[in-house]
Amino acid sequence: MTIEDNLREVRDRIANAALRAGRKPEDVTLVAVSKTKPVEAVLAALAAGQTVFGENRVQEAETKFPALRAAHRFSLHLIGGLQTNKAREAVRIGDVIETLDRPRLADAIAAAMDKEGRRPSLLIEVNTGAEAQKSGVPRDDADAFIADCKARFGAGLKGLMCIPPHDEDPRPHFTWLADRAARHGLGVVSMGMSADYEIAIECGATLVRVGTAIFGGRG
Ligand SMILES: *Cc1c(COP(=O)(O)O)cnc(C)c1O
Repeated sequence: MTIEDNLREVRDRIANAALRAGRKPEDVTLVAVSKTKPVEAVLAALAAGQTVFGENRVQEAETKFPALRAAHRFSLHLIGGLQTNKAREAVRIGDVIETLDRPRLADAIAAAMDKEGRRPSLLIEVNTGAEAQKSGVPRDDADAFIADCKARFGAGLKGLMCIPPHDEDPRPHFTWLADRAARHGLGVVSMGMSADYEIAIECGATLVRVGTAIFGGRG
């Protein structure tokens, strides 16, 4: 299976999951997660019509994506936990930062936006499973943090993102996130990966982040 074949299958599955849920396929955007994969893999996906990509590490994204901008149109989502000292690079190269999760990072991103004159869209990551090793604002703090970020970033704050715990049914996490986004009038809900993106779509995902099913395993 080539990257092109994989993309076709994932897109079909997305469309079918959306239709099963009574939703429009075009309301779900596929973020192709190319972390650890070479730029050739990104080029293959671009050739197959993929235009939205996700990377975990700012440093890795910097080595692959900025050079592609001259010849290709795409949008780059930064989906990994972000250190404040990487905020400036993230703002410089990202189109969407999906992992805003604490006030100090909001400060750093706001300062970086002023310095760079560039305003990537923002999603707030929620640690729905309260996992110590994961980034994300705790559920209990989410409402207040969302309100703060709305006041600060206005329409630049687009939505919410989560990564449910590996060993749990993701549905309650997905449902909680979609409901929380709706309550705050936020249109973007980023959830679902290779193992569970169809379930996420049933639960209301508007962005699914899929790596392995497109690019193969990461070894
Ligand atoms: C790696 C990663 C993905 C993609 O995971 P796959 O299981 O390979 O589809 C999605 N979201 C985040 C935040 C990731 O780090």
